[in-house]
Amino acid sequence: MTLALRYAIRTDVGLLREGNEDSAFAGPRLLAIADGMGGHAAGEVASAVAISTITTLADHVPDNDLLDALSRAVATANRRLHDMSAEDPSVEGMGTTLTAMLWSGPKFGLCHIGDSRAYLLRGDELRQITRDHTLVQALVDDGRISRDEAASHPQRSLLLRALDGSPDAEPDLVVLAAQVGDRYLLCSDGLSDVVSDQSVQRTLATVPDPDEAVRRLIDLALRGGGPDNITCIIADVIDTMATTLIPSEKPVLVGAAVASPNGSATTKPRPVSPPARPQVVPHTAPQAAVLTATAVAGSTLTEREQDEDEEQGTARRRWPIVTSLVVVLVVVVAGAAYAGWNYTQQQYYVGTAGGRVAIFRGVDQRVAGLSLSSVYQKTAIPLAMVPSNDLTQIRATITSTGLPDARRIVGNIKRDYQQCQQAGLASAAYRARLTRYHAALATYRKQFGTTRPIRVRGVAHVPPRAPGPPPPFPPLCPAGTAGGAAASSGSGGTP
Ligand code: MG
Repeated sequence: MTLALRYAIRTDVGLLREGNEDSAFAGPRLLAIADGMGGHAAGEVASAVAISTITTLADHVPDNDLLDALSRAVATANRRLHDMSAEDPSVEGMGTTLTAMLWSGPKFGLCHIGDSRAYLLRGDELRQITRDHTLVQALVDDGRISRDEAASHPQRSLLLRALDGSPDAEPDLVVLAAQVGDRYLLCSDGLSDVVSDQSVQRTLATVPDPDEAVRRLIDLALRGGGPDNITCIIADVIDTMATTLIPSEKPVLVGAAVASPNGSATTKPRPVSPPARPQVVPHTAPQAAVLTATAVAGSTLTEREQDEDEEQGTARRRWPIVTSLVVVLVVVVAGAAYAGWNYTQQQYYVGTAGGRVAIFRGVDQRVAGLSLSSVYQKTAIPLAMVPSNDLTQIRATITSTGLPDARRIVGNIKRDYQQCQQAGLASAAYRARLTRYHAALATYRKQFGTTRPIRVRGVAHVPPRAPGPPPPFPPLCPAGTAGGAAASSGSGGTP
């Protein structure tokens, strides 16, 4: 029996990212995937460094001590990342996940750090054979949240361990035994965060061709919103002595490492694209290796529950779409609020302030208890002295087409107010004349015993002349402006 791999590899930038920070490699003896993180292009550099370093093992696979070879390669990559960060502050904090399989006959060394994943489909059963080095996985392990809660947890991408140049960057290392018919999947979180394990299992179990299966998985992630870079490697274990299937021989490099195959690229700023992966939680003690020695026999591999229902999977896939819609909604609401506020500042109306007529800037509305207007100009026109028809409108506020129009409205009110003032003055003058008339008439009656004309000793006497009818007083003018004349206007006739 001669075991070999028949593999396919593919990467996609996704629907929201500007660049691809994933790097991956697939060769007859080595499968590796890295998901970089860091500002600007630093994530691309980090994943390229990891892949370019570990691919040095592809052509020189040791028969024994697979883990030592992997460990040394990881240490080298980590040291390179440390040195690059020390030399260039702009890439400080960059890091990468790394999940790699180094094959030797029927066994392979598995190296893993971060939250990229390796799965095994054996028969129809899908098992995740790596354990995420994430905060939510630690919370699940502690029993503080459920797996369902972890799948939609907002901090589920927060790494506790990554290859970032720090001394804590220790990978999980284990040797596993493969079987003919095994199908392995390596993927970045651009797939596993979006596509449910159930959908992954169904695709892997029902699509025989590795290349077609990889295409379908990436398509599922894109249909789920594609918020992140998506990279997948599928490798089938075949017995070349017992099948007509052709093993893969051609090494393939994809993602950021293609642009800098030796990992020597310098960072070139490019637009930051959402959603960026959070940085690694610093100075966290390494977790115990998830895959223990007993896992070598394949009897205690980490087993993820396979009973996720389709509804849960659908909800998980919708998460990035919902998040994007919420962000868009917030931006739209904020923009509309600003546009609305800006609109109100172009509006003017006439109302009352402190018992006087005033021009207001804004609109006569309140939102959440806050007024959308303020006094722009208070006039000297007292409300008590404007005609009642104007007063009714002013109290209800008079809208205008702008500040000039508001001033025109105030001009009309002032004109009506002045007419009432003049009518009031005329009424007051008439009342004074009437008072004088009554006094003179009383004196006449006292002297002559009558209020009619009379001749005494040949001399004619006439009573004082009445002042005539009162001046007209606009009925809508307030009584106060008439000084009481309106009420007494009927008393001015000749007695
Ligand atoms: Mg990612």
